[in-house]
Amino acid sequence: MAAQILDGKTMSEEIRREVAERAAALKERGVTPGLAVILVGNDPASEIYVRNKGKGCEETGMLSRTIRMDASASQDELENEIEKLNRDDAIHGILVQLPLPAHLDEQAALAKILPEKDVDGFHMINAGRLMTGTEGVVPCTPKGALYMIRSTGIDLNGREAVVIGRSNIVGKPMAMLLLQQNCTVTVCHSRTKDLASHTRRADILVAAVGKPGFVTADMVKPGAVVIDVGINRVDGKVCGDVDFQAVREVAGWITPVPGGVGKMTIAMLLMNTVDAAERAAGRA
Ligand code: NDP
Repeated sequence: MAAQILDGKTMSEEIRREVAERAAALKERGVTPGLAVILVGNDPASEIYVRNKGKGCEETGMLSRTIRMDASASQDELENEIEKLNRDDAIHGILVQLPLPAHLDEQAALAKILPEKDVDGFHMINAGRLMTGTEGVVPCTPKGALYMIRSTGIDLNGREAVVIGRSNIVGKPMAMLLLQQNCTVTVCHSRTKDLASHTRRADILVAAVGKPGFVTADMVKPGAVVIDVGINRVDGKVCGDVDFQAVREVAGWITPVPGGVGKMTIAMLLMNTVDAAERAAGRA
């Protein structure tokens, strides 16, 4: 039987409705949640992401501000903008759109964002909080992916989870979240030997590689939950890291691309922003 589709569109709409309700409640108390996005240069993919984030804010009744900086901006100029936003009470969430031009130091810039305004959850303090299981801001993509995994209703205790990819923004935080759910977690990467021997054991398989069709049906355990984080472009079309048509015949649940994790990422960003605004308003 073909896998059930985990529909990111429907799930993200539920989250957006909740965010909109919470934003409206804050407004009644005189606080409009505000997200500022800093965009350095004019990378076309980043432009689309930034536009979608702004649209998401407007649709949920939040303030959105985009700070555009020239591709030749210096590290000092970038960090000055971040510091201005740190001091700005109308802004509850700050996001630096990645990747930055090569001459800029991403980690140094992210470290300047106040951890409580770091709605991407990339600041080292928030990464440390996730690692130690203390409350903090969780990165949007793995947070959205976990929401989708939990929506299956399966008991995660003691399940084998395999994450392919070990980036700071997806793979590592995803592994931490699954560990917190009491899964037995394996993290695979480009040096992993015999990858399929790991993936075939997975009750939950998360692919965050960046290679179209990388996960094939023979790599998947029958009935597994397969979460496709990848966003790739092939002949102008967006596709994930999973060979969707073949894997859906083996898996129990699967996320589509587009219409899967990507939708959840923006919804979780809006959720993290309203969380930050509530904390600032002293209610969380
Ligand atoms: P990175 O390039 O930072 O990480 C890719 C990971 O895949 C690395 O850890 C790498 O291993 C691993 N990898 C590469 N080749 C292999 C291989 N042959 N076998 C096993 N592992 C391999 O990417 P990101 O984590 O930033 O993103 C991953 C994908 O997710 C991309 O397609 C990206 O566009 C997408 N993405 C989607 C989002 C969404 O909202 N849906 C948000 C963020 C990202 P190693 O560390 O050894 O190099």
